[in-house]
Order: sequence, then structure tokens, then C-alpha cells
Amino acid sequence: MDTSSPLALSLAFGARREWNERFLKYFIGLGAGFMLAATFLRMLPASFAVSPSAPALILAGYFLVQFFEHTLAPHFHFGEEHHDDAMVDPAVGFSALLGLSIHTFFDGVSIASGFLLSVPLGLLIFFAVVLHKIPEGVTVASIALASGQGHRAALSSSFVLAGATLAGVLSMNRFAGAVGYALPLSTGVTLYVAASDLIPEVNEERGLRMPAVVFLGVALFYATEHVLDALIA
Ligand SMILES: [Zn+2]
Ligand SMILES: [Zn+2]
Repeated sequence: MDTSSPLALSLAFGARREWNERFLKYFIGLGAGFMLAATFLRMLPASFAVSPSAPALILAGYFLVQFFEHTLAPHFHFGEEHHDDAMVDPAVGFSALLGLSIHTFFDGVSIASGFLLSVPLGLLIFFAVVLHKIPEGVTVASIALASGQGHRAALSSSFVLAGATLAGVLSMNRFAGAVGYALPLSTGVTLYVAASDLIPEVNEERGLRMPAVVFLGVALFYATEHVLDALIA
């Protein structure tokens, strides 16, 4: 198996269950910091620039994830699923996968929308998405395992998520004119994932290191932005 891609890596981790949980938590923190910086510094201003309805669309994107990940799905959170008691019904696992697929579809929409506006914006959103793909893959694989669906289901769940992201990218290629709606909506989704999915996982940890990694994510955003400006502008 090619372990250089985040997907393959997450599959290997999810299937073998031997990965280091701290390593996963660091990725969650780093991703959260980077995504929040990308949201507030680039995606929100760009959304306001492309649509007068941006505020309502951002709110709609935020609550779209709240609805599918945390209202329709009876049990879902980022990170490895340990709560086997919450997972006895396979429907719980299925609804979590559906919620996560809708969020990952908008991961793809946000990347493609960014590239439609500018290459640096597209790249920054791409990095923000890539940084939380490993936690995403581990999350969905561990949900499949915890709900007793076995390794094959864990693997196919990860492929469903990757497929949803690809579908998001392709649909923006097809409907480029919709970027005025798509960018603000996916900005609301990104804000939700960073602030309401990832940050709560960070805050469960004790000590200083995890919170520090979030700030490192913000710093990484500034550094990436700086490099891109030097290379592309
Ligand atoms: Zn749980
Ligand atoms: Zn995502």
C-alpha cells in the first residue's frame, strides 16, 4: 500500500488500530488552527466580495453541518470512536457517515471555489482541507469498526468520504457560475468543522501542548500565505 497519501495513511491507521492517538490529536489541533486562520483571514472576506447574501449563506453552511452531523446522527464526534455502547445500532454508524459525507462534499466545493477566484486562495483552502483529512479518515474508519461493521466497511467508508470530496470538486467544475453561493456556504461548513468539530477535541486534552499546536496551525497558515505571495504574486 502506498503510505504517502493521507488517505492510504488513514486507511492503514484505521484498519490496524495501532496508530498513535496523540499523533492524531496533533493533526486535529494543527488543522483547526490553520482552518480558522484560513476562514477568518481569506474565506470570509472572499465570500463577502462574491455575494451580497454571504452572511445568510455562511450561517446556512454552518447549520447544514450541525444538522447532518449532530442532529440527524445520534452520535458523532471527531477522533477515534471508543464509545462502543453508542454504536450498537449500525444505523448510528450509517448516519454518522452520511453527515461526514456532506461535510466532505463541501470540502471539495470549497477547494474548487477557491481556485475559481484565485490560485493562492485555492491552495490555502486545499492545505486547510488536507490537514484535517487524516483525522477524518480515522474518524470514519473507527466508527465503522466500533459499530461492528468490520475492516472492509472501514475501508469503504474512507472511500465514500474521498469520493464525496471529489464529487464536490467536480460539481464546482460543472457549475462554476454558482461560486457566489458555493464559497459562502462552504465557508460556513469550514467554520463549523474547525470551531465546532475540531476545537472541542483539542479542548478535551489536558496540558499545554495541544492548545499550543492550534496556535502553531495559525502560524503555519501565515507562513504558507507568505510563501505563496512570494511565489505567485
Ligand atoms: Zn463516541
Ligand atoms: Zn473535512
